[in-house]
Amino acid sequence: MNIKRLLFPPKCVFCSRILTDDEQHICTSCAEDLRKQKPPSRRSGAFFDAAYSFLTYSGTVRRAIHRYKYYGKIHYADYFASLMAIRYGREEKTLPDIITAVPSHRRKAAKRGFDHSFLLAQKVGERLGIEPSRLLKKLEATPAMYGLKAEQRRANIRGSIGFMGDAEQIKGKHILLIDDIFTTGSTAAECARVLKNFGAKRVTVLVAAMTVKKK
Ligand SMILES: [Zn+2]
Repeated sequence: MNIKRLLFPPKCVFCSRILTDDEQHICTSCAEDLRKQKPPSRRSGAFFDAAYSFLTYSGTVRRAIHRYKYYGKIHYADYFASLMAIRYGREEKTLPDIITAVPSHRRKAAKRGFDHSFLLAQKVGERLGIEPSRLLKKLEATPAMYGLKAEQRRANIRGSIGFMGDAEQIKGKHILLIDDIFTTGSTAAECARVLKNFGAKRVTVLVAAMTVKKK
């Protein structure tokens, strides 16, 4: 056994159990659970053409994303991206022209030590053979969205995303927009609105996990 594995045994992304030599990223029992679950259905919105993920944002998945974002489990990005790429392949017949990420506020990303959405975009990009571009920026720190109603979120986010790319570069293109989670979809919609304003033809949203839409 190699020393790194002995000192820092890899643990299951979902349940944190120490993995055996045969297990990668997740344990056999979590893999079994995952196989039984149906990925959340594809969503559409006012400005983006489709949004999808492999994982449902609840329970252990929700906690795993939280550890990824706030507790230094940066290496989870590899595993999340592998599932995201699988779902992309199931949903789309062609590759996107451009991959970009929902922007984080610079101060928040600095505090966290990394840009969680852009890292996912890089990892998905590695799998699809496309280097991600930074096309969008957060214009101001939006107040934390937690606990806000959908309508309040929309009002909050409107006008908070700016374009920092080259409009010629995105004209008529299919852009794949990456984020960690999709809940109400208001952030994704605002990013897509800006991208379409600057000439993008199609915007699809690919996230690590998505809530199931309430009926
Ligand atoms: Zn597990």
